[in-house]
Amino acid sequence: MTALVIAEHDNASLKAATLNTVTAAAACGGEVHVLVAGEGAAAVAQAASQVAGVAKVLHADGASLKNGLAENLAAQVLAIAGNYSHILFPATASGKNTAPRVAARLDVAQISDITKVDGADTFERPIYAGNAIATVQSLDATKVITVRTTGFDAAAATGGSAAVESLAAVADSGKSQFVGAELSKSERPELTAAKIIVSGGRALGSSEKFNEVMTPLADKLGAAIGASRAAVDAGYAPNDLQVGQTGKIVAPQLYIACGISGAIQHLAGMKDSKVIVAINKDEEAPIFSVADYGLVADLFVAVPELVKAL
Ligand SMILES: Cc1cc2nc3c(=O)[nH]c(=O)nc-3n(C[C@H](O)[C@H](O)[C@H](O)COP(=O)(O)OP(=O)(O)OC[C@H]3O[C@@H](n4cnc5c(N)ncnc54)[C@H](O)[C@@H]3O)c2cc1C
Repeated sequence: MTALVIAEHDNASLKAATLNTVTAAAACGGEVHVLVAGEGAAAVAQAASQVAGVAKVLHADGASLKNGLAENLAAQVLAIAGNYSHILFPATASGKNTAPRVAARLDVAQISDITKVDGADTFERPIYAGNAIATVQSLDATKVITVRTTGFDAAAATGGSAAVESLAAVADSGKSQFVGAELSKSERPELTAAKIIVSGGRALGSSEKFNEVMTPLADKLGAAIGASRAAVDAGYAPNDLQVGQTGKIVAPQLYIACGISGAIQHLAGMKDSKVIVAINKDEEAPIFSVADYGLVADLFVAVPELVKAL
């Protein structure tokens, strides 16, 4: 029984989501191998070989794999899928794009967004926006799995010494073409990897106020900034900051929710945070039911005071 983890990377560095996925793979019970498929990604393969618990790294390097096109990546996975009992992807945009193609071609049911491994064939996954946990058993020969990374601790990035084996890269499928990427640049930590997140809701009232109130708090704490969907829909914050069921799933050490009511769809994205602080002027707001610390106050007074005190 051997599990294959598909590494998430940008050809330069191994993304943290891979480390959580390695932990999930190890819990399946067998050896863990990691596939690094990219172009000029030797440094990534090297980094993957250092991850604790990884027995082997398979490194496929070629132009067809440069931009992580799902058609080509799926073909690369399928070329070696027969050697594996479990194939695990982080439940990121890339993982969720590629895993279904692999599952379909293997004619197996994908097991999506797992948060716990109960055994080699049994997994837990949240349903109904996290209100219920389904225990899923799969009798398929190959388990194709996406992993909710907040459900698993990160494997140590160092301490391993896996061998790196080269694989021939698959040919370009010709079915899709990379046109370009527009990446938002920020000095702040990435939302899903941040240890501290300060999040603002509809109460902020405008993008000017959102920036004026939330940015100094984030700067003081070295935090990433998040937002509720209401704040995003109203144009107070950019779309990629949205936390929740239809946004990003986060589980930082500290999550500070400012003027966020705590709708179930928002909670679905952040309730696994280690410590939750809520600032809301309505003491009945549902966010207080998940908060470890709650402050019933006007955020336009409380947040600047907090910044000053920090
Ligand atoms: C299918 C679906 C998917 C969704 N996905 C998401 C998602 O991914 N993420 C998400 O966030 N939402 C999501 N939503 C929307 C969600 O239901 C809520 O509408 C949204 O989360 C509300 O955002 P909010 O808390 O900022 O706004 P509101 O619910 O309007 O809450 C504002 C809060 O601010 C407080 N407040 C007002 N003024 C102040 C002040 N001066 N100081 C302090 N507190 C103040 C109020 O008491 C209130 O509690 C989804 C909804 C649906 C139907």
